[in-house]
Amino acid sequence: MLSRRDFLATGATAAAGLALGPDSVSGVPAPVAHLRARPLARPVVVASSNGLRGVKVAYDQIVAGTDTLDAIIAGVNIQELDPEDQSVGLGGLPNEDGVVQLDASCMHGPTKRAGAVGCLEDIATPSLVAKAIMDYTDHIMLVGADARRFAIRMGFTPQNLLTEKSRQDWLRWKSRLNPNDFWLDHDDDVRIRFSTGTINMNAVNANGDLSSVTTTSGMAWKVPGRVGDSPIIGAGQYCDNAVGAAGSTGRGESNIMTCGAFLCVEFMRQGLSPEQAVLRTMERVVATTQSKLMGPNGRPHVDLQFYAVSRDGRFAGGSLYEGPGYAVCDDQGPRVAPCVYLFKASERPRRG
Ligand code: ASP
Repeated sequence: MLSRRDFLATGATAAAGLALGPDSVSGVPAPVAHLRARPLARPVVVASSNGLRGVKVAYDQIVAGTDTLDAIIAGVNIQELDPEDQSVGLGGLPNEDGVVQLDASCMHGPTKRAGAVGCLEDIATPSLVAKAIMDYTDHIMLVGADARRFAIRMGFTPQNLLTEKSRQDWLRWKSRLNPNDFWLDHDDDVRIRFSTGTINMNAVNANGDLSSVTTTSGMAWKVPGRVGDSPIIGAGQYCDNAVGAAGSTGRGESNIMTCGAFLCVEFMRQGLSPEQAVLRTMERVVATTQSKLMGPNGRPHVDLQFYAVSRDGRFAGGSLYEGPGYAVCDDQGPRVAPCVYLFKASERPRRG
């Protein structure tokens, strides 16, 4: 292995036609030449499939010159403010106490900044609260009641986020929990959603500037106070302006164990395409899955998706199991594209 001193002495950087960037000086692996060699990108926005409306809004803003983070936050705000969307923001499914608790995080590639909020109540747009923490404090993450107080001081308006539809779903879930309690079962014909749901969105503009954001109401019926992967920088989303951006939806605990968004960006730094990077990240998720979550066929009882965009505008969505798509918008317009996947749908183990 070359030491840094040897590396400088060999003039390897000059041979590669590269200026020695700050990454190399700090000892952090420098972006490899294939990434630095492409200064301009095709603008593109990728998201989980529930971001189909949002990717179009974000893309249009980006090509009109809006900052990538402002544009993708405008994109996810559509779902956060939609009371019919039970996976994020207003109308999100609540925790086991019937309280909606939201998580979000964002990263701004050009300025190397991040913001995050966990377990936030009463504010419909946690993505904007995460950005306010990034913009107005020297911290990265605020949580719980103090995050709520911060948001209100920043001008956000508190409101009841539990819509009647989500409250009814919570009551159904609660009434069927225990056959021996005093809650009467009702609506036996109504299927209760045991749902996860989140929106992740990542974008690059024509300058190769990147941003990422993830926002969620987390797992439905979660233990109060539970924080998932979405507000964890490096898990729910990650962005490095020299390389690419990535984010995730699905079982947050599995993603946190893998630092999945960070890993995905690191794989791209090593030269993998976004498609290869999401697949390799999911292989790592499987390798770190505890045995109680594995089926007899060695396949996990877990749903997880990753979305990635490289600095030069390549992109991919990936899923552990065949089936899900992801939203993308570029000069071809908004569409849902199929995710690459590790396992066929028929390999998904049945719960015993
Ligand atoms: N990742 C989210 C969480 O674990 C849930 C989801 O994406 O469905 O909180």
